[in-house]
Amino acid sequence: MAYVYDDQNIFARILRGEIPNKTVRETPHTLAFHDIHPQAPVHVLVIPKGRYVTFDHFALEASPEEIADFTRTAGEICRELEIASDIGQGYRAISNAGAHGLQEVPHYHMHILGGRVLGRLVEKP
Ligand code: 5GP
Repeated sequence: MAYVYDDQNIFARILRGEIPNKTVRETPHTLAFHDIHPQAPVHVLVIPKGRYVTFDHFALEASPEEIADFTRTAGEICRELEIASDIGQGYRAISNAGAHGLQEVPHYHMHILGGRVLGRLVEKP
């Protein structure tokens, strides 16, 4: 099986500049911006600029440079938004994948949520 990337997904369009975003940070391999429908006082999406569908796709096929850049950028955002676990009250970093994960946008993204107590990780069915 191979990962299939849809170039028309909304985050691909954001990366091409076709749709505006509220950028938090941009690096050579990574873009971070505010979620359009925030679920918490802090709700940032961190995405690689490369064509990756899910976390597993990114983790298995991205270059070490892309992975390092993405991870470090996510950490820097936690610091900048004052939710990091040393200077702030913490946060949740999650990524939905595929049908069971209820992923809506098929471009890998990490949600960083904070600014309030976030409740349990998953609801019982
Ligand atoms: P998923 O369910 O795929 O993990 O999350 C997709 C997220 O993308 C949702 O939280 C949704 O609010 C956000 N989103 C969808 N379209 C846009 C958009 O055009 N701009 C921004 N900033 N966020 C979006």
